Amino acid sequence: MSEELAIDGGPPVRSSFLPYAKQTIEDDDVEAVVAALRSDWLTTGPRVEEFEHAFAEYVGTRHAVAYSSGTAALHGTTFAAGLGEGDEVVVPAMTFAASAACAVYVGATPVLADVEPGTLNLDPAELERALTARTRAVVVVHYAGIPANMESIGDIARRAGLVVIEDAAHAIGARMRDQLVGTIGDMAVFSLHPAKQLTAGEGGIVTTDDEQLASRLRRFRNHCMDTSGREREESGGHAYTIEELGFNYRLTDIQAALGLSQLRKLDRFLERRRELAALYDHLLAHRNDLMLPVVPDETTPAWHLYVVRLVLERLDADRDAIFRALRAENIGVNVHYKPVHLLGFYRRLLDVAEGSYPAAEDAYRRILTLPLFPSMKDDDVVSVVRALDKVLSRSSRLADRLAS
Ligand SMILES: *Cc1c(COP(=O)(O)O)cnc(C)c1O
Repeated sequence: MSEELAIDGGPPVRSSFLPYAKQTIEDDDVEAVVAALRSDWLTTGPRVEEFEHAFAEYVGTRHAVAYSSGTAALHGTTFAAGLGEGDEVVVPAMTFAASAACAVYVGATPVLADVEPGTLNLDPAELERALTARTRAVVVVHYAGIPANMESIGDIARRAGLVVIEDAAHAIGARMRDQLVGTIGDMAVFSLHPAKQLTAGEGGIVTTDDEQLASRLRRFRNHCMDTSGREREESGGHAYTIEELGFNYRLTDIQAALGLSQLRKLDRFLERRRELAALYDHLLAHRNDLMLPVVPDETTPAWHLYVVRLVLERLDADRDAIFRALRAENIGVNVHYKPVHLLGFYRRLLDVAEGSYPAAEDAYRRILTLPLFPSMKDDDVVSVVRALDKVLSRSSRLADRLAS
């Protein structure tokens, strides 16, 4: 109880640093990449196509189109949806900036909407409130891997004629009843960044059932050429045309080899994430100064992040002080996210004042992402809980201590 905090010079709870996220790369992943390196294709080739087929089959959509990053894939969706100047795209205030950037990239205007105080997912009532005659699309984030309320959001979107883009960067494998995230919107974007559930080093992928969207997504990642290099090589021709502005957002075969190998073990990774989240739930249940993640009925999260909130009313330190104290204990806590409208670029672009999105802002003052990745041991979770107990006990209000 009187253990000195590491930030005050005491011994840390852990001798080695535990990051908040870490990829799991096994021998067969390495072998798959080496085989790609020895093959005829380094850039977009047969492995990308194979990865796309396998990914579409996993999610249960007709098409999947791979990109060089999740952010590039989001850009692909706003292009494919035909969004542009004068169009408004509703985006939750509590997300990574890329969810809003994809609107700005095509000249459209992101319009932020507040989140539900429980799940921190887009609040359907706030979506409704954000609608104007110019609203054309909504980007729905499944924050931390916990499915958003797609039923209500889908109803509103249908009535308003909106394109629904799921930013499923946190949520591969998450379910609402029997439906996998990524099958509900018109398009869904997944990220293959090493912090996410499966990785290709960098990469992104869009799933959709719509043939026309899929074909626009394919063209956009390759300069909007009407044929790919591989198609030209196979047909023996040279001609192509470019009718719209595209980008080079191609995934390489080297990355696809890693993605394919990782996809085969995704269910094992997800199972371990669920076990670790359940262990946190169990070991932290006794703390009345922490709010644990809120999981709606009939949903199965994919647990990209395990985010707790500090009950600041019961503590006499703020989040940043607790963050620094935990880092000193070698616990790699993190913060996801600073709300979009509080970032300089978006603050200037959107011209909305602090206080405009109270649920997102309140959450931002309280959130801490705890370490969570498949190769973590149960003992690692125990060390995080020990560090929280140590740090939070020091900053519990005196009144509480007297009362208990
Ligand atoms: C990771 C992430 C992205 C972007 O993915 P990258 O592959 O890093 O470009 C987009 N949206 C959210 C919510 C993310 O967490």
